[in-house]
Amino acid sequence: MIRTIVLASFLCLGLSLSAQMRCAADEWQAELTAIYPEVVQGNQRIEAYIRNWRAQARPRNGEVITIPVVVHIVYQDEIENIPELQINAQIEVLNEDFRLLNENVPYLPDEFRPIAADTEIEFCLASLDPDGRPTDGITRTSTDISCIADIFTVKSDGRSRLFYTELGGQDAWDTEHYLNIWVASSCGTLLGVTPGAAFIDILPEQDGVVIDYKYFGNNCFSGESAPYHLGRTATHEIGHFFNLKHPWSDCGTFEGDLVDDTPDQSAPYYGCPIHPQASCGSNDVYMNFMNYTDDECMMMFTVGQKERMLAMLDGPREGLKASVGCALQPTPLPFSDEAILIYPNPTQDCIHIDFNAEIPGIVQVELYDAMGRRLFQIDESSRNFRSIDVSSLARGVYFLCFHAGRQTITKKVLVAP
Ligand SMILES: [Zn+2]
Repeated sequence: MIRTIVLASFLCLGLSLSAQMRCAADEWQAELTAIYPEVVQGNQRIEAYIRNWRAQARPRNGEVITIPVVVHIVYQDEIENIPELQINAQIEVLNEDFRLLNENVPYLPDEFRPIAADTEIEFCLASLDPDGRPTDGITRTSTDISCIADIFTVKSDGRSRLFYTELGGQDAWDTEHYLNIWVASSCGTLLGVTPGAAFIDILPEQDGVVIDYKYFGNNCFSGESAPYHLGRTATHEIGHFFNLKHPWSDCGTFEGDLVDDTPDQSAPYYGCPIHPQASCGSNDVYMNFMNYTDDECMMMFTVGQKERMLAMLDGPREGLKASVGCALQPTPLPFSDEAILIYPNPTQDCIHIDFNAEIPGIVQVELYDAMGRRLFQIDESSRNFRSIDVSSLARGVYFLCFHAGRQTITKKVLVAP
């Protein structure tokens, strides 16, 4: 639904700051707009550019754009210092959601399938930092500041501490070439927030998205984060980062999302509605990633939203396309130490073996004790997940040997009943 009341949505503050906000982007943008009123003109320039971009035929050649991401973990308690597996899981969620490969696509109502988009945008954890050094794309900063992701109140001299190393947070990496994601605790005030795309030039040090650590990654085993536990807070906030807006407008009372193919809706949807849901005279795409529904019920961006995002990547955010942040990708070795995970280690009763990479052919797995005696041996495809029961073994050091082709990899296991 297109409306031309520029920035009017900033005035529509739907929720009190005292409640936990599904998305605090409108509120944050309103606060920043009051401080930096020149953003109104900047935003008008961006919208004029997008209209011009859309007016030109732009055949796609199937090129997929990969966005280098740096994740800044800023933690006070160790539980907030989330593991790499959780960060990788979030990148995986983004790559599924933006490519329309998410698990719940089969549940899309038929009437919305024609407008559901593969955005042809993907994400990678940066492999080169802004100085050209190899990196895992993750920074970890211990802080003394509580609730630092509550950017509305945890400030110093008017600056939200999270975005500044000198204030106990973490400075952004070159925002022209990296998508910065800050992950920290908001003490239950918000799930995610971003200044969006309009403040690129005005506040480059805050150009990125903020996600509360409880809602980052796929926490499908953590009931505490439900119903926002599947990583779609980041999908939604990154939509804002690419200049998408919320799709409601009180049936045109204020600015909508400036997208043609998202039916006008009166207000945000929460929970997990059942199709059809109608307002403003049409059925609503309540399952849009830019709505407020539960993670498991968000399913799609539209073709019109994809256009807005790609326009940004041809214009104000073109630096991300030119970035070499993901240029250094390790050559995937089909059979390497990194390709084999064993856990837990030390173990009491069971060793799980998992393969990061698909190893061609048969892998032979052997377990030896410290005396070199073979206790166990199996030949299998790496596709099969394995567990080895070691509960009957005496406490001590053991060795797992993996053979494939002419290569052998050995890993030490400590059995500690
Ligand atoms: Zn939002």
